[in-house]
Amino acid sequence: IEWIASHAAMKVETARLYHTLKKTNAELDEAVKARDTFIAIAAHELRTPLSTLKLHAQMLRRFATRDPESFTPQMVVDRLGSVDRQVNRLDRLIDQLMNVSRIIDGGMAPELGPCDLCVVARDVVSRFEQALEDAGCQLSLSAPPGVHGIWDLDRLDHILTNLVSNAIKYGGGQPIEVRVFCDADGARVEVEDRGEGIAPRDRERIFERFERVISSRQTKGMGLGLWIVRSYTESLGGQIRVESELGQGSTFILELPLHSPANQGA
Ligand code: ADP
Repeated sequence: IEWIASHAAMKVETARLYHTLKKTNAELDEAVKARDTFIAIAAHELRTPLSTLKLHAQMLRRFATRDPESFTPQMVVDRLGSVDRQVNRLDRLIDQLMNVSRIIDGGMAPELGPCDLCVVARDVVSRFEQALEDAGCQLSLSAPPGVHGIWDLDRLDHILTNLVSNAIKYGGGQPIEVRVFCDADGARVEVEDRGEGIAPRDRERIFERFERVISSRQTKGMGLGLWIVRSYTESLGGQIRVESELGQGSTFILELPLHSPANQGA
């Protein structure tokens, strides 16, 4: 009986070990796959603005050296404007990549301090003036005079920047509304666009890493923005979700407690 018992226990232990190993292997495979996808997407996204910058540099050199008569000052201004946009894009991409690796490494506790959500929202919106003009779209911001809370200013800025940037990118040039609310339970920001909308099956998926909706493939992006947004929101004790109607637009809703809990990683 003892022998049978120890044999059975060994079998159970072997099965458990086998199960754990199999699971570990599957997790390892998944991690390797995620890493490869990450490298491929990052390389592709970084190469595109670099190629454009190279072309502009070659063109400006040709203008300046070979046939200076063939170009007007306006042509140089246009080229330099595009150089500026590509450099900004590279800057944003590198910023995203650094945020991702920081979050994967186990995150960092948010740096909490008093913030005024309305001031942050106004600041973010003002930085999009040029992008809004380029996209030919209007943005209206409604915010009460002051919404004070204990948050991480950089993360708040990052979250709102991503949501507004996406509303412009996927908003099809239609008006965008940013609304800030506050009550005793917490603060809420809604970013509403009237663009293509998001199908029900994609509404959760888009918050995952590298997930992009097929119809968005012609736009630039790594599918990391909303994943960072959700990670940062959760690190502030908040929630982010989207309500959407295909063909009508989307509203991203950010809800935050007025006092973010300390000791939460990204
Ligand atoms: P990226 O914009 O780099 O692809 P995000 O993580 O910010 O990455 O967004 C993931 C996907 O969610 C996008 O590729 C797009 O398909 C979808 N998406 C995000 N914001 C919107 C929006 N406002 N309207 C429609 N689709 C959106």
